Amino acid sequence: NTTPRIVVLGAGYAGMMTTKKLMKYLSPEEAEIVLVNKHNYHYQTTWLHEVAAGTINQNQVRIMIRDIISPNRVRLIYDTVEEIVTDEKIVKLENSEIPYDYLVISLGFETNTFGIKGMDEHAFFIESFDQCQLIREHIEYQFANYKNHPEADESSLTILVGGGGFTGIEFIGELVERIPNLCRKYDIERKKAKIINVEAAPSILPSFDPDLVQYAKKSLQDRGAEIMEGTRIQECTEEGFIVGDNNELIKAGTIVWTGGVTGNSVLGKSGFELTKGKVTVNGDLRAPGYENVFILGDCAWVMNKEDNRPYPPTAQAAMQHAITCAKNIRALLHNGTLEEFTFHDKGTVASLGVTDGMGTVFNGKKLYGKTAAAMKKVVDDRYLFLLGGPHLLLKKGKIRPF
Ligand code: FAD
Repeated sequence: NTTPRIVVLGAGYAGMMTTKKLMKYLSPEEAEIVLVNKHNYHYQTTWLHEVAAGTINQNQVRIMIRDIISPNRVRLIYDTVEEIVTDEKIVKLENSEIPYDYLVISLGFETNTFGIKGMDEHAFFIESFDQCQLIREHIEYQFANYKNHPEADESSLTILVGGGGFTGIEFIGELVERIPNLCRKYDIERKKAKIINVEAAPSILPSFDPDLVQYAKKSLQDRGAEIMEGTRIQECTEEGFIVGDNNELIKAGTIVWTGGVTGNSVLGKSGFELTKGKVTVNGDLRAPGYENVFILGDCAWVMNKEDNRPYPPTAQAAMQHAITCAKNIRALLHNGTLEEFTFHDKGTVASLGVTDGMGTVFNGKKLYGKTAAAMKKVVDDRYLFLLGGPHLLLKKGKIRPF
């Protein structure tokens, strides 16, 4: 069999979109396409904070891969990638191995705890669908347990979130809606359950416009969240965070760290040269020194040539990488010219719960409140439409026509 084989690793935003585009651009005679993923489903990483808080039905976040990508056209392998041996053009999986001619690495991010003592052992991470289901169940358990053990420490109801970046703040936005419901469900006084965000930088959401940051802060505080800025976490213990110069202990029943991410550890294990855990790719999205290896999404630093800084890692960028990557693989197969990636910024909107949010859209216009929340749902639904057309949108979309 001389048909070249393209192997795509990871069925997240970048991997799913690359596979879809390859199916469109290439005939089965031109290339065999293989998609490898840990699970038989794709999940929306950008909705994980909702899964963790329990504000969304988890099945809305999960999409069976074979519902989107035909197994008649793409070979689907559900297994865990352990290592890539580039010299031999082989990917080692937990249960088998697969040779490739062209490789797309889109395995997403892993949490970075920056070596904070105890964080790996004692905190949950908003990192995968499974972890987020565990966080949701853990929070609910704390409430059920407290009700059955009146002698229990009230701090078991506290939820402590380390990191006031995008993920941490979106998670707090869901918690301020979920916790009052849990208090009602278990007949617990609302003021007993604390939601605390701890951020080392002088302000939460450092990359956002100050007006938007103020809006987010006030919205969350008004709904009962405490936001501790300029507060360094010295250590995470079983009981909570030890913070600040005075080593104050903040006790909590649920501890979640959202303060940092890095590229998938498979990159390092496979010998790629890393900058802060990711590979700085060439303009055509290939790994430097490799003719046939593309690295996309949260595994890659893609440089903005205008200011010589990497673009922020977002789902929006990951999907755009996918299109350039698929076109460039087609160009390689057809001896054509590879194109350079250019990012088209469509803006960023953060949710602050189901009906609140803030952000900017493509023309720089700021959005607040219900308008921002509605825009966020449009963005989420647009992705579903791009991935699976009207059928998927009707099945899993956030805007319900009926
Ligand atoms: P992912 O979409 O994370 O996909 C990686 C895939 O690889 C997963 O399916 C995973 O199961 C699989 N995988 C991982 N390791 C292995 C392995 N060893 N073997 C096999 N499979 C493996 N971006 C935005 O643009 N807008 C937002 O509003 C936004 N909100 C966010 C909210 C949250 C809570 C989080 C966590 C992130 C948010 N982001 C947002 C960032 C965005 O989610 C990421 O940039 C995006 O998911 C990157 O896409 P990816 O394809 O690289 O990785």
